Amino acid sequence: MVGLTAPIAAKARHRMLVDGQGVTTLVCFHGCPLRCHWCLNPFTLNPDAKREMLTPRELYEKVCIDELYFLATGGGVTFGGGEPLLYSDFLLEFRKICGPDWHLCAETSLNVPWENVAKAAVCIDHFYIDCKDTDPDIYRRYTGQDNAQMLENLRRLLEIVKPERITVRIPLIPEYNTEEDKIRSRNLLQAMGVVNFDLFTYKVKI
Ligand code: SF4
Repeated sequence: MVGLTAPIAAKARHRMLVDGQGVTTLVCFHGCPLRCHWCLNPFTLNPDAKREMLTPRELYEKVCIDELYFLATGGGVTFGGGEPLLYSDFLLEFRKICGPDWHLCAETSLNVPWENVAKAAVCIDHFYIDCKDTDPDIYRRYTGQDNAQMLENLRRLLEIVKPERITVRIPLIPEYNTEEDKIRSRNLLQAMGVVNFDLFTYKVKI
């Protein structure tokens, strides 16, 4: 696709068994529709932060230095951010260039238009979905946004990909939710068909 570029805020190579299988390179996009109070990567929200505008081909040429590791370990590229699903056309094009053998993952809030999720479903092998909390009030207080779109996207995604391709992360968010809230979210998402969960606690400085 001519002229397709995306802002890349950071890259990290040689990650082993973190947010993806085998050896992975993390690629962080700049920009996110949410404003989480304890944002894990605030540089991806800062309008003044450094980033590189790259085409999918240019990104491929930078990360393919590790192709031998990817192929030997079943690894590949994990797209994070920021919100990688803001750039689904870029991801589709990247998949065409890297071919079917790289394992591609996306770390996403899923709080983007459905058409972005549908495009990502075609080219991403595994989704790590940070759902924050399924309670709309907690979610809005924490992110500044509504969670209805995220929940509806997850419901629709489960209709078109196997549940094994999805891991939902449910954090304990200091000052925002409780252990009971985490369990309530897990039970609700389990009833929707989610099978893989990662329950953890945000480590923040208060
Ligand atoms: S979804 Fe991620 S990148 Fe976006 S504001 Fe929240 S923590 Fe930050």
